[in-house]
Amino acid sequence: MPKRPRKTTKKKVGKIDRLLSGVPLFNGVRLARLAKDLERGQVTVLKKGDVLLTPQEPNSELYILLDGVLAVQIDLQMQPIAVLRPGECVGELSVFEGELPSAYVIATADSRVYRVHKEVVWRLIDDSNRFAQNLLHVLGSRIRSGNEALTSTQERLLMQEISASLDPLTGIYNRRWLNNMFRRSIERARISQTPVFLLMIDIDHFKAYNDAHGHLAGDQCLRAVAATLRDSIRPNDLLARFGGEEFSVLLSGTGPVGSITAAERLRKAVENRSIRNRDGTPLPSVTISVGVAQLGPDESLESLIEKADKGLYEAKEQGRNQVVVREARVTR
Ligand code: GH3
Ligand code: MG
Ligand code: MG
Repeated sequence: MPKRPRKTTKKKVGKIDRLLSGVPLFNGVRLARLAKDLERGQVTVLKKGDVLLTPQEPNSELYILLDGVLAVQIDLQMQPIAVLRPGECVGELSVFEGELPSAYVIATADSRVYRVHKEVVWRLIDDSNRFAQNLLHVLGSRIRSGNEALTSTQERLLMQEISASLDPLTGIYNRRWLNNMFRRSIERARISQTPVFLLMIDIDHFKAYNDAHGHLAGDQCLRAVAATLRDSIRPNDLLARFGGEEFSVLLSGTGPVGSITAAERLRKAVENRSIRNRDGTPLPSVTISVGVAQLGPDESLESLIEKADKGLYEAKEQGRNQVVVREARVTR
């Protein structure tokens, strides 16, 4: 008998939420979307003295300490080089094929760890820019702590790999990720015959904003707009900085009306967002213009971008701070 697909119920999300709340790696990550992946992560109970990782055995999971204490030791006889507290993670190296842990990890009190398989870790890096950002932060602070044993070449490589998908100014995904993930999403939608819409978004009169308030204020504005867009999209929508003061959003699983509603929601959210300079002084708000286009049959990402760009151009022409839809290509 075919297996019924397992549903991620609200109850399960709530359980994962409770388990992972307060874990810096999941800070700001929308767990509802990831719950299906995360429920495959499992809790392991360790007794005081249990060895979780050894440099002799390959490991394929990332561990998040839920409670208890873990010690990281180069040698079983020596003093720990690091002590991990609840919320901290270990085993990031496992995301690389065949890598052996660089040290022993031992429970120095009764502990519980949440295990996330490496495939899920990679999916989280690809799907949740907050998770990617958080992991980058964790690795970055280890490297800054200068503890060589905790910061192997592979960890630096992992940082580079994650950084290559994130825009350093705004923390959202960049154009490289967009090229990869938007394309994949389009292919998936084509197979499942789900409609796809692209939103091309451009901040209005941004050159004048920079000229009037300076580039650093301009940067603050870009951060605020990126955060607003990120907080206003639905869990399954994809967002990236296209370049400069332009952003792209890919919507799937919604219709023509839904795509306009979504674009309007983003436009209003940006318009209502207050912006502050780094010193906390208020800056003027900005508006965005949005071009919307639906993916046609056999249409490429490039052609979809061009189409949405035409809508964006029209929105600018018609006075900015508005949404313009380019009709789907008519096929006979
Ligand atoms: P429009 O309403 O027609 O879009 O006008 P605009 O002034 O926004 O468009 P234009 O293309 O003339 O200017 C874009 C500006 O965005 C110019 C550029 O200096 C600024 N910009 C691009 N990237 C960054 C960035 O990373 N930081 C800052 N501060 N400014 C940026
Ligand atoms: Mg522009
Ligand atoms: Mg602009």
